[in-house]
Amino acid sequence: MIIVIKPHTPSDSVQRIIDEVAKLGYEPKPIHGAVQTVVAAIGDETTHQSLESLLTWPEVESVLRVQKRYKLASRETRDASTVHVAGHPIGTGQPFCLMAGPCSVESEDQLMTTARAVKAAGAVLLRGGAFKPRTSPYEFQGLGEPGLKLLAAARAETGLGIVTEVLAERDVDLVASYADLLQIGARNAQNFSLIKEAARSQKPILLKRGLSMKIEEWLLAAEYALSEGNPNVILCERGIRTFETYTRNTLDLAAVAIAKKESHLPVVVDPSQGCGRADLVTELCKAAVALAADGLLIEVHPCPAEAWSDGQQQVDLNAFSNLVREIQPFIQLVRP
Ligand code: PEP
Ligand code: MN
Repeated sequence: MIIVIKPHTPSDSVQRIIDEVAKLGYEPKPIHGAVQTVVAAIGDETTHQSLESLLTWPEVESVLRVQKRYKLASRETRDASTVHVAGHPIGTGQPFCLMAGPCSVESEDQLMTTARAVKAAGAVLLRGGAFKPRTSPYEFQGLGEPGLKLLAAARAETGLGIVTEVLAERDVDLVASYADLLQIGARNAQNFSLIKEAARSQKPILLKRGLSMKIEEWLLAAEYALSEGNPNVILCERGIRTFETYTRNTLDLAAVAIAKKESHLPVVVDPSQGCGRADLVTELCKAAVALAADGLLIEVHPCPAEAWSDGQQQVDLNAFSNLVREIQPFIQLVRP
């Protein structure tokens, strides 16, 4: 860390700061300028106490971090990683991964119809929520375990892997016994005890970005799963809350590019929650592919107008197959 001391601080006060840096476990290397002293504090910032507390000293102007707060998620630690889900490799240099299916599992007919169609169009993973995080307690909360059973039946028939959300710590074992990829939703993206419990299941984790989460916080949430000994984490950008009202959320495409630079983890994009409008999904998918996202998570419903959740943002089966066709040239360009 770097400690910048205010100009014209008397040398005995400067020395007190240097001594404190040493006391906190860092090797202080002071650089005395004409008016100001800067102290480089050498030590592992991820294991030592943060020196930001020195800001409480009136002589300290600023304290700057040098190391990233996330160690295991950082690109500095390793080259791009690949996460295998139901036998499909996801990550840089791997085939583009299409995950699609309804927002919520509603019925056998709805799920099977969707599963067959998304498989025929080229999806390799089937999404569908059995436990739904709804803003209102009066809205459809998901079918629970019967929904998981329908997902398992869809996998048995189509061979598609299953992506589904785990909402609560107490459900991790249950959901993990059905899922190939455990989704941690935006509302739980900083529920660290849930993330740790999900990671301990050793199932791959799809970590959505929280509604108002900074990129650093998102990567630190991933760090919780990684530090639990589960290396199989996929980041999912799904839009953040902004002042804009033409879209449900603002899909933060810069965050996709930044996450790919900052982290070795695969990054996928959910354009459905990302904008909340079916008419924009195809365009956003093209943009995500062009940005070198590693996959897409798309909401697809046989009859969006009758969907029990998120109808306005789900594309129908025909639109999905057109979408897959339209993004092909972009995939060829980015992943020849
Ligand atoms: C979903 O995928 O249907 C969902 C609820 O996602 P998010 O947590 O991103 O809102
Ligand atoms: Mn949804």
